[in-house]
Amino acid sequence: MTTMSTQELDVLVVGAGFAGLYQLDRLRSLGYSVQVFESGGDIGGIWYWNCYPGARVDTYAPLYQYSREDLWRGWEFSEFYPGWDEVRRYFRYVDEKLDLSRDIRLNTRVSAAEFDDDARQWVVRAGDGTSVRARYLVMCTGFAAKPYVPDIPDLDTFAGECHHTGRWPQDGVNVTGKRVGVIGTGASGVQVIQETAPDAAHLTVFQRTPNMALPMRQRTLDADAQRQLKLSYAERFAMRGKTFAGFDYDFIGYGAFDVPDDERKAIYEDLWERGGFLPWLATFNDILLDADANATSYAFWRDKVRERVDDPAVAEKLAPTHAIHPFGVKRPSLEQRYYEVYNQDNVELVDLRETSIERITPAGVVTSDGREHKLDVLVLATGFDSITGGLTAIDIRGTKRESFADVFAGGTRTHLGTATAGFPNLFYIYGPQSPSAFCNGPTCAELQGDWVVECLEYLRRNGLSRIEATHEAENAWGSHVAELTAATLFPEAKSWYMGANVPGKKRELLAYPGGLPTYLQKCNEAAEKGYDGFVLA
Ligand code: NAP
Repeated sequence: MTTMSTQELDVLVVGAGFAGLYQLDRLRSLGYSVQVFESGGDIGGIWYWNCYPGARVDTYAPLYQYSREDLWRGWEFSEFYPGWDEVRRYFRYVDEKLDLSRDIRLNTRVSAAEFDDDARQWVVRAGDGTSVRARYLVMCTGFAAKPYVPDIPDLDTFAGECHHTGRWPQDGVNVTGKRVGVIGTGASGVQVIQETAPDAAHLTVFQRTPNMALPMRQRTLDADAQRQLKLSYAERFAMRGKTFAGFDYDFIGYGAFDVPDDERKAIYEDLWERGGFLPWLATFNDILLDADANATSYAFWRDKVRERVDDPAVAEKLAPTHAIHPFGVKRPSLEQRYYEVYNQDNVELVDLRETSIERITPAGVVTSDGREHKLDVLVLATGFDSITGGLTAIDIRGTKRESFADVFAGGTRTHLGTATAGFPNLFYIYGPQSPSAFCNGPTCAELQGDWVVECLEYLRRNGLSRIEATHEAENAWGSHVAELTAATLFPEAKSWYMGANVPGKKRELLAYPGGLPTYLQKCNEAAEKGYDGFVLA
């Protein structure tokens, strides 16, 4: 598999998003030889691939960046929730400041890796034939590396342009004056829909499950606003590891029924006005745990949305009287004028619960009521094989020659959401059973990333070169995650959080639901005990 000239590295990092670049910079500055392999044509991870119309972050600007003062002092986001192009510019700025590119190979998709136990090295191959040996492999492929395209009959016969949001053409797609169809109303769908509705001749939205979207409350940031915001950056960054989802705010310390009805309503109103994820993550602390508490939150959301939609029949489809699943157990999206879009004459909502998609034709989409929805552009906003897809898509063979696809077939197995038995010297950031989906990219990249860096430092200091999670530790972590999950409402939705969006994927909560502080505490406790749950050699 290798040749005499194969390059040898201390660490190979896969993926040049927030997590991968953080690993590169930290490890390199500690003297490790490191390279990053990135399949995209530029750095930025998800922001390279997801450049569809309207793509923008759902974590506000003060936290959607690295916490290093020398970086944030010199960078200014122009919007509170920056768009994909501005985030890309931010990555270029970071690259220039930290001189990262010299150790990044773009357009290099890792296809396979196998562990050479004698040498204690990973032998990693890329699609272009490149091969390297690395003592450690750090997978930073993100939660959305593998787009999910549903198996819709005759999809390939469509004669117009058809693109998945997660593989959007880098040169963009002209939708002006075109008949556009969007399948999917998750975060990607909501953004494409509200962005294309003003320009498309006609927009058909194929909705299976309504999104419980929240008001983004976008605003532009002038120089003064940026100066003001920066006064709070240090404090905001320091908060991240102390809050459930790695933000600078947290749940209220009591439940929805601990206050009278009018006070509850006032709190919901306040959170709604402040917008973003606050109605989801700064609300009563039992909303994601207790069905009755959750119902109060759903009712508030439903009524707010229905006020904005002119046609009561359309309003019922977008915000049903009876919740299809509890509020917030499927990730809410942040919207700007999403609901008003449905008041436009050129927009039609097709409810797939009433009439399903039967097949695609060269001209468009045929639904089970016999209608053919004629389209020029078909957008698949159908999501991802989330959280595990980045690992299972690569043929990574550990000590037993099994791949992640094999090992995860019956459900994910991890210790601390960062390593799996049988895959020595391999860590993943933002992966299964870590806070990942309940956190935000830059926060996890740094806080989980620091733990990996400290672990490698520990091994080096102690003259060790092999670390592997044990099955016992995996079993314990899996039980811990399952126990936490059972106390929540998350299993009640068919969501990507639960692996339920991809047919055949095991249904389980894929992210750690105990909150970031507990997670970090458990990781640190393991480290303090000499990396409890791992065998070191
Ligand atoms: P998603 O949340 O998984 O949404 C996929 C959508 O496609 C759902 O509405 C789903 O319907 C629909 N769908 C899937 N298969 C279908 C089929 N066969 N027929 C009809 N509809 C089908 O994916 P996403 O919107 O790409 O978002 C994934 C995550 O990425 C988000 O939750 C968020 O964390 C992140 N994201 C963030 C932003 C941002 O604002 N920063 C933007 C985009 C994405 P069902 O709900 O019925 O399954």
